[in-house]
Parts: sequence; structure tokens; C-alpha cells
Amino acid sequence: MKSCNFSYYDPNTVSEVVSLISRHENAKLLAGGQSLVPMLNFRILSPEHIVDLNKVSDLFGIKENGNHLRIGSMTRQSELLNSPLIIQSSPLISRALGYVGHDQTRNRGTIGGSLCHLDPAAELCVVASAYNAELTVTGKKGDRVIAMSDWPVDFLTPALDHDEILTNIRITPWQGSHGFCFIEFARREGDFAIVAVAVLIEITDHVISKASIALGGVAAGPVRLHDVETLLTGQSPGQELFKEAGLLAKKVDAMSDINYSTNYRKRLSGTLTERALHGAMAQFKGEEEGHA
Ligand SMILES: Cc1cc2nc3c(=O)[nH]c(=O)nc-3n(C[C@H](O)[C@H](O)[C@H](O)COP(=O)(O)OP(=O)(O)OC[C@H]3O[C@@H](n4cnc5c(N)ncnc54)[C@H](O)[C@@H]3O)c2cc1C
Repeated sequence: MKSCNFSYYDPNTVSEVVSLISRHENAKLLAGGQSLVPMLNFRILSPEHIVDLNKVSDLFGIKENGNHLRIGSMTRQSELLNSPLIIQSSPLISRALGYVGHDQTRNRGTIGGSLCHLDPAAELCVVASAYNAELTVTGKKGDRVIAMSDWPVDFLTPALDHDEILTNIRITPWQGSHGFCFIEFARREGDFAIVAVAVLIEITDHVISKASIALGGVAAGPVRLHDVETLLTGQSPGQELFKEAGLLAKKVDAMSDINYSTNYRKRLSGTLTERALHGAMAQFKGEEEGHA
């Protein structure tokens, strides 16, 4: 099928974008088009207006700003995957991107598009949750900053009004000595994950001083495992502790769909969390073997 007819606009500035989407209620923003265009062609969406963000130069790029990174919403996934700044400061992002689609989709797909599309299993949403990302959205009334924990409102629905645009994503890299791991289980390479997990653990004097664990694929948005983080904090890392963490992760409130049951997703959550904790420790000790 082909998309319905629409009017097309290609503004140069954020204020022009905001003005267009404020005037036209049934408008959609076009970023990399990797999710939007299939949805148009399948007529899941039938907007009357398409506002293309590809000429809005202010939305592109990664900037270091004090102790945090400011990533423009139109920054391509391939740029994030290969950015020395990201690899050095927030490596979980580039690690997760290795699982997002394929070279071709990453060359067009953007971080903002992924966060706004909000697929339940989107790797970038999981990582944004693990890093407690803050999202700046801009509308007629100015800017709002939304914590990643408040971003998912429902299935494929972020906390974004129809006349707002996601402009940038703020990530605070972990400074202390820490390990990280991202793993997922999918039917085929490049497919959306059935369950994905991102782990960050900070180690101080042989003890876990901070932990962040986020799951994807179990609910409409990423789920932080706060009870597992609490269990780990203050403990010495090791096989028994990680096993216990996996058992606790298995209790997550997981959704079911026509393909996979709640129980299957719970079991995957437990197994992958335990495995990712071992992966993060191996990475911390420099024992990591290739791709986790
Ligand atoms: C073959 C294939 C495999 C894929 N595999 C994966 C995968 O494994 N994991 C994964 O996460 N994704 C995967 N995707 C999906 C895809 O990579 C991302 O969802 C997609 O990149 C979204 O980003 P985009 O820039 O293409 O956004 P678009 O498709 O252009 O937009 C997506 C949605 O976000 C809105 N939007 C975009 N930017 C903004 C903004 N700045 N402000 C407000 N709203 C905005 C659009 O209006 C639209 O509703 C795959 C896609 C394909 C085609």
C-alpha cells in the first residue's frame, strides 16, 4: 500500500516547526522515517501534514556540556554508534545501538525518532532509562524537561503534546569506576528484542555502590528494576548475588501479546538480567569477550 496524500513542509528552524505543528492539528514530524514511513504506507497513520525535520540544523549533533551530554534529537543512530565521545563517556549507548536494526536503518534513524516512536523493545529507550535521561521538548509555550521515567504514557505514546517537538536528550555519564552491559534476546539479528536489558554497576572498594538496571520488551515503556538495584547496592558482586538478582528480576510485571506469554517474558527477564550482571562485571574487570 501507499500512504494517503499529505502536504509536505521542510522548515529550517525549531520555531518554524513549532509554528507549523501548532497550526496543523493532524501533522506528523518526519525524522529518519524508519518507523513513520512504514506506518504511513500501511495506513496505520494518515496525517494531513508531514513536517520534515531534516533541514533543522539545531537538532543535530552531540555536545559535551559540563558533566553531561546534550544529544540533538535528529542525531543519527549511526553517528551515536561510532562517536568517540559516546564510546568513551556513555558506552552503553553505542553498545545497545549494535542491536538496533541494520546499518541502513541506523544511517537514517535518529535517537529522537526512536524515543518518540517508543516501541516497547526499543533499545535506545532502555538505555535512556538506565541513564535517567532528561528529554527537552519545545512547544509554543517554550521548553519543558521530562524525565525518562515520565516519558512513556501508553503503548507507542510519549508524554508529548501534538504541538511539541523533542529537541534534545540530556545524558549524564557515570563518572566512577563502573561496568556496563547490554544484551537482548530476539528471534533474528536486527529484529526488535523480545526482552532487552541494560545494566550499569559502579564498584567502589570491591562493593557495588550504585546500580541501574532497565528492561525493554516487558511493558509499554522501559522498566527500571529498582528492587534489584536495591538488592545489589552495598553487596559484593558474585555468582550467588547475581543469581538472586535474576530471580527477583523474574518477578517483573511483564506483558503478553500474540507471540510471547507473560511467563516467557518473565523467564527471559530473569535469565538476561543475571547474564548482563556477569557481563557488566566482566567488562569492569576487562575480561569481556567481544560483543556481550
Ligand atoms: C528493518 C528495520 C529494523 C528495525 N529494527 C529496530 C530495532 O531493532 N530496534 C529499534 O529500536 N528500532 C528498530 N527499527 C525502528 C527504527 O530504527 C526506529 O524506530 C526509528 O529509527 C525511529 O527513528 P526515525 O528517526 O526513523 O523516526 P521516524 O520514523 O521519522 O519517526 C518515528 C515517530 O517519532 C516521531 N518523531 C520523530 N522525531 C521526533 C521529534 N524530534 N519530536 C517529536 N516527534 C518525533 C514521528 O512523528 C513518528 O511518529 C527498525 C526499523 C526497520 C525499518
